[in-house]
Amino acid sequence: MTDTLQEAPTAVKPINHWIGGMAVAGKSGRSGRVYNPATGRQTGAVDFASVEEVGDAVAAAKAAFPTWRSTSLSRRAEILFRVRELFHQHREDIAGFLTAEHGKVRSDALGEVARGLEIVEFACGIPHLLKGGYTEQASTGIDVYSIRQPLGVVGGITPFNFPAMVPMWMFAPAIACGNTFVLKPSEKDPSASIFVAQLMHDAGVPDGVFNVVHGDKVAVDALLEHPDVAAISFVGSTPVAKYIYTTATSHGKRCQALAGAKNHMVVLPDADIDMAADAAVSAGYGSAGERCMAISMIVAVGHAAEPLIEAIKERIPKIKVGAGDEPGVEMGPLITREHRDRVASYIENAPAEGAKVLVDGRESANGDGFFLNPTLIDETKPGMKCYDDEIFGPVLGVTRVETYDEALKLVNESPFGNGTAIFTRDGGVARQFQFDAQAGMVGVNVPIPVPVAYYSFGGWKNSLFGDLHIYGPEGISFYTRGKVVTSRWPDPATSQVDLGFPQTR
Ligand code: NAD
Repeated sequence: MTDTLQEAPTAVKPINHWIGGMAVAGKSGRSGRVYNPATGRQTGAVDFASVEEVGDAVAAAKAAFPTWRSTSLSRRAEILFRVRELFHQHREDIAGFLTAEHGKVRSDALGEVARGLEIVEFACGIPHLLKGGYTEQASTGIDVYSIRQPLGVVGGITPFNFPAMVPMWMFAPAIACGNTFVLKPSEKDPSASIFVAQLMHDAGVPDGVFNVVHGDKVAVDALLEHPDVAAISFVGSTPVAKYIYTTATSHGKRCQALAGAKNHMVVLPDADIDMAADAAVSAGYGSAGERCMAISMIVAVGHAAEPLIEAIKERIPKIKVGAGDEPGVEMGPLITREHRDRVASYIENAPAEGAKVLVDGRESANGDGFFLNPTLIDETKPGMKCYDDEIFGPVLGVTRVETYDEALKLVNESPFGNGTAIFTRDGGVARQFQFDAQAGMVGVNVPIPVPVAYYSFGGWKNSLFGDLHIYGPEGISFYTRGKVVTSRWPDPATSQVDLGFPQTR
């Protein structure tokens, strides 16, 4: 994964850090290769930060904090409105970086930017979001009020699959609350974050309020251990999320670590089968299955199974797979060759586990790009790796059960609890599912129930370590500390010594 800058071919674009309001070339001598997954060719060499370089970014953020937290809410909101405008104006450019380095198709990349923008728009309402409570005359002559204050320097560590949206989930509410921010984006598709940093600078975000350091575990650990970093937001895989949560909290930091997933879609026999098949195909193969909210397991109840499988099989050959910047293409490549091969290994092993590969995406994997076509595996069951593991590719599994209760059991026995969905025409059963499902986000006839910006996003169980979900009201809570003020303005003439515990009267 790493090589030295000197070894990188000269045609390869260097990707630098962003510290204190400017691009800063890495000094560690270490870098990572960035590929165009559609061609398999290296396009970039991203600087990997040393402990000292992360320290420089934290120092810039720390220096910017006192002025930024004192900046009025109306001024912060005004700057955020400008950030929103510039992101919106440049959405095609941001999407271009996503397609070039992540591989997702144009429409999907634009969708990612749009959903990220919604969080920036939410953050523009920061004056309202930070309003506290006020109680007049809580006791005689005493008023009590609550305020929320920023934490200081906060860090964000983000995954490869949403290189624009997930950072926006974090930095928009964080800086709106008055914090300063150090982002460590995925080293696999880092260019969007530097472009976004430049746009924020152009929008008037003061130097040091938003910084980007690239890198691997060295940079991540430096953030986790830095005494001047107050909180860490993380989104990524479950083993790393667990490590991040444990390490950050052991260093006294507040931490929210959103993790991996295996999202079940329950299809009841009364569901509209065509609608359910459309949803399964869209949510299973969109973004090549590299979404934490992707549907990866269909739980077909009773006689839903056969027609649903037939309907999915009909749709798969119509999906146009190719380079994300080609017109009409619906599904792009996977992020790396290694990841493509790892996903393919699940397909390879499925028959030996007792499952049936109905559509094999390896058969038409094409060119030098990291492609794998949509795959459908039937008769998967708990205990099989193709059922249990987060595969994170364009692979839909089908598990057949006879009753709703069996389906619910499968959903709730999953160690993950990110999202789940039910497809039915029966409102009563859907309501019961919403009541019983052990997952943080539930869809009713909606396969990817990513909450809108004014709710919060997050899973349960092995899909989130920490207490607070990300963005929305819980994001504001995460990035602030509460303070309650008890105040009185008595006539000094009435003052007296009273050693009893203060009582309200
Ligand atoms: P990842 O865990 O490999 O990497 C995430 C971040 O952690 C990256 O910035 C990476 O550089 C860093 N990292 C990786 N290994 C590390 C280590 N050993 N020590 C310290 N830092 C390390 O995840 P990924 O492959 O980039 O992203 C895909 C994963 O993210 C999937 O599991 C997916 O489900 C998950 N995800 C979850 C959500 C959610 O909201 N729950 C959203 C998007 C993605």
